[in-house]
Amino acid sequence: MDLKNYFDYNATTPVDTRVIEAMQPFFFENFHNPSSFYSKAGEALHAIDIAREQAAKLLNAQPEEIFFTSGGTESDNLAIQGVASMYKEKGNHIITSAIEHPAVLKTCQFLAKKKGFEVTYLPVDEKGYVSTKELKESIKDTTILVTIMHANNEIGTLQPLKELVEIAHSRGVYFHTDAVQSTGKIPVDVKNLGVDMLSFSSHKIYGPKGMGVLYLKKGVKIDPLLFGGGHEHGLRAGTENVTGIVGIGKAAEIALAEMADEEKKLRPLRDRLKKGILETIPDVLVNGDPENGLYNTLNVSIRHIEGESILAMLDADGFALSSGSACSSKSLDPSHVLLAIGLKHEDAHGSLRISLGKYNSEDAVNNLLETLPTVVQRLRSMSPFWTNK
Ligand SMILES: *Cc1c(COP(=O)(O)O)cnc(C)c1O
Repeated sequence: MDLKNYFDYNATTPVDTRVIEAMQPFFFENFHNPSSFYSKAGEALHAIDIAREQAAKLLNAQPEEIFFTSGGTESDNLAIQGVASMYKEKGNHIITSAIEHPAVLKTCQFLAKKKGFEVTYLPVDEKGYVSTKELKESIKDTTILVTIMHANNEIGTLQPLKELVEIAHSRGVYFHTDAVQSTGKIPVDVKNLGVDMLSFSSHKIYGPKGMGVLYLKKGVKIDPLLFGGGHEHGLRAGTENVTGIVGIGKAAEIALAEMADEEKKLRPLRDRLKKGILETIPDVLVNGDPENGLYNTLNVSIRHIEGESILAMLDADGFALSSGSACSSKSLDPSHVLLAIGLKHEDAHGSLRISLGKYNSEDAVNNLLETLPTVVQRLRSMSPFWTNK
């Protein structure tokens, strides 16, 4: 597959070669344990300090507020389980939304099933927005945490986080956000948003897989998930993944410097895809709110056929994209996000997620726009749901 035909950047990204170069020395020449006494170990420790500053800068946070984890999933777990454990005497109620990533949803479900917590899943409207009014009404005296994602990975909808945070804070409730999809794509400023905790992941921003960050606002105390040596101020034990940390730091630095240019390049390509698809393929629904959501994401339902069949045929032509969410696309359940915005099962099944990134070109977009209508026509001609049209 030609990298320019990869349209699945919300699932993962290739590691930027500048990130690989920055990581390289810490595999062999400087493999030392940052906690050791000798000077080489000090260099590793220094590299971690620099990465912490780079990650902090991306979020407009302080370096002491950055905690390195093994990814977005661990950051989400640490925030939610950490608050749940720390404040269970104060209350047992957690509020989240119906369209969260499984890293949040499954964690909440576990707490409800096994640890005596009560979870409210806020519904969303047809574009994927949580209602501020409904958040207001669902906060109780026992509420200890609101966790609502910034940008949705499937449809790209961006929540009005600032307003949601203000509502939680007016009732003295902590706010965590899964910002894995927004961080590195758009400005994410923790001071401006006001969040207490925020998760992001390295491999969604051209860094290595298996690395993440939890931002924890100064003064916010949560319990750890992992116990051991006192790494990361005791919040996340385990010898530091120095190469990974250097990688996420460099990726953060590059993202901050280049995100504005990325938007300038990718938004027109995404809009072109949307327009082209609507012009050449009949009976298509656009999901989410592309104009106001993530500029790199387009989610459409191509009615009367299966998304998986489209993916398979596009794959044979060298294109990589997703249907529903990558994490659940191996199962036959339709996406919980698309059902939550009110799609019928059959329309959720016909969904395609196109997510663009650094290595896409106008060329590749044109190729996809040429290929897709043919694929759809072939599949529809075989579909029992289409023949009577
Ligand atoms: C990818 C993703 C995650 C999980 O991050 P990992 O680093 O893969 O564990 C969590 N939330 C969202 C919204 C994501 O897109």
